[in-house]
Amino acid sequence: MSRDINHCEVCGKEAFVRCDDCTKCDGCGYHGEIIESPTGKELHGLCHYSEGMFCKKCYKKIVKQYIKDFDGDTSYTDNVVCPYCGYESKDSSDFETGDFVCYRCEKKFYIERDERVTFSTSKV
Ligand SMILES: [Zn+2]
Ligand SMILES: [Zn+2]
Ligand SMILES: [Zn+2]
Repeated sequence: MSRDINHCEVCGKEAFVRCDDCTKCDGCGYHGEIIESPTGKELHGLCHYSEGMFCKKCYKKIVKQYIKDFDGDTSYTDNVVCPYCGYESKDSSDFETGDFVCYRCEKKFYIERDERVTFSTSKV
C-alpha cells in the first residue's frame, strides 16, 4: 500500500532514504547534513553508499579494507573491475581503452578493452 512512500532504511519512519535522526555516519556516529561537495573533499560530509551512510573518513577506512581484501582476477571480465578494490562498474560496454579513475577507491588504473573478433563475408 505504501510502495510509493519512502521509508527510513534504519528505523522505517516515513522519510527519504533516512530520517533526520538516522542521518548519521554508520561508522563513527557523526550526525550531520549530507553535503554534496563538487570536490568530494569534505571530511564530515555524509554520503550514502551501497554499504550504508558514512562520513568521508569512515568510508575511506572501508575502501582501505576492500583494497586489502581484494585479490581477484580482473582480466577478461564482463564489466570493468577495479584492480585495487574490486569495484565492478556495471554497464561497462561504453568504456574505452585508457586510464580510468575508480568510482569507489579513486585510484587510477588502465583499462584495456578487448574487441571480440568476428568475420563477415560477401560475394564479389
Ligand atoms: Zn530513521
Ligand atoms: Zn564516520
Ligand atoms: Zn577501486
